[in-house]
Amino acid sequence: MKKIYITTPIYYINAAPHIGHAYTTIAADVLARFYRSQNREIHFLTGTDEHGLKIEEAARALGMEPQNYADQISEKFRELWKHLDIRYDDFIRTTEERHVRCVEDVFSRLLKSGDVYKGFYEGYYCLSCETYWTEKEILPNEKNLKLCPNSECKKPLERVKEESYFFKLSKYQQALIEHYQKNPGFLSPAHRASEIVNFVKSGLQDISVSRAKVKWGIPVPGDSAQTVYVWFDALLNYVSAVLESKTSNPSGEFWPADAHIVGKEIYRFHAVIWPAMLLALGFPLPKKVFAHGWWTVEGQKMSKSKGNFVDPYEATREFGVDSFRYFLLREMPFGQDGDFSIEALRRRYNSDLANDLGNLISRVVEMTDRFLGGKLPTQSDPEKHEYPRRWAEKTPAIQSAMENLNFSEALSIIWSVISSLNQYVNEQAPWKLQKTSPEKVEPVLFNLVWSIRIVMGWLEPFMPQTAAKVQAQLGIRQLPRPVTAEEVLAGKPTASHAILKAPPLFPRKTKP
Ligand SMILES: [Zn+2]
Repeated sequence: MKKIYITTPIYYINAAPHIGHAYTTIAADVLARFYRSQNREIHFLTGTDEHGLKIEEAARALGMEPQNYADQISEKFRELWKHLDIRYDDFIRTTEERHVRCVEDVFSRLLKSGDVYKGFYEGYYCLSCETYWTEKEILPNEKNLKLCPNSECKKPLERVKEESYFFKLSKYQQALIEHYQKNPGFLSPAHRASEIVNFVKSGLQDISVSRAKVKWGIPVPGDSAQTVYVWFDALLNYVSAVLESKTSNPSGEFWPADAHIVGKEIYRFHAVIWPAMLLALGFPLPKKVFAHGWWTVEGQKMSKSKGNFVDPYEATREFGVDSFRYFLLREMPFGQDGDFSIEALRRRYNSDLANDLGNLISRVVEMTDRFLGGKLPTQSDPEKHEYPRRWAEKTPAIQSAMENLNFSEALSIIWSVISSLNQYVNEQAPWKLQKTSPEKVEPVLFNLVWSIRIVMGWLEPFMPQTAAKVQAQLGIRQLPRPVTAEEVLAGKPTASHAILKAPPLFPRKTKP
């Protein structure tokens, strides 16, 4: 059976990883963990994009060879993914041989088919961005200087006329429009589709896919004066990571990709150029290309000049990795823009995690310890499983939210159940029952423990450490994977299972 294939973009290694990289990768990890929890086979790919002039310059500035520099920064990404509990299946680097060979082969194939041809590029070039700009894209400037339209750059542009290889993007305009129309889920979320459709309808130009000035790249096959443009090279990672052996065709075990998750700033590359490249190669198109929004930081756009990139290590130091993962996917709907601040993180932490979730777990564990001597509550009559069973009915809505990458919606359903459980504790008040009708205490605690087990199965993709801790506290140990509601309800606790008391999961955090 085909594996579910989920990707992040490969990250450009001109700087250390920040919250933007973490956000995309956490989202992809949550989706991958969700499918694993459904017993689906998953292939989750991430990696690093390592060619181009900026990398060469960054390396030289440090007195390093580009490859050594790439090794070092690429390792920083893998370290961060380990820190953030990202469970990827493969990490691809564009300097790896498997990738280089695939790019060379694809380039040769497209040259042969005529989809790539040699021509002349005439216009403006930004050396720093490695990008050609057209007259209408260039910023107006009173001194009549031609400046780079990239707001992070704005450097003077060069007027160039040079040989370059071009990809016949224009040829695929109609095929792309038809694909968008026939596959409404391809451009996701829906509100980003119209911009892409209008862009394609307004007419596509062939694009330059080689650079004569860039040395740190994959040489164009048969023309060592040129290297393959870094974007053309990078996009092919989605295929080069899953090749059928000894070919440059993607293996049907993985391809087509089920979801490419990307930031909105690189959506055109993924929603226009990439599918056109695949059409030219005769490979099937991915099922979904999803563009998420941007985080501002305390109301400000993140930028190099402001130096306000959020360091994920910093953000997890006080609140922990699970809280950070939770916050990013709960605070703003995936696909929209949102604002990050430590204060907002503290707020969510105290209200949702310390008050709602943490409090529920510690109350239930405490009462089981006190009233049942730590013994796992049981209820042998399946007729009386109706309370926890009702939560299993929420599973389809959570599944459908997850399949649509609507993570905040899934979390909001999970939290509605957590609040109902807290309310149930207050209404049943086992500490009072213990005095008036002690035989009713165990059934109430049974209902709570079994309900929390179900909640932890849903929560595992988002908060893997928390789910594992709570499952251990509630007598589920060393599970190979999270449990579905049905499995929780079918499970028979053994006498050896006991409730374990542990320090609070989310101690309240006050302002320093
Ligand atoms: Zn520039």
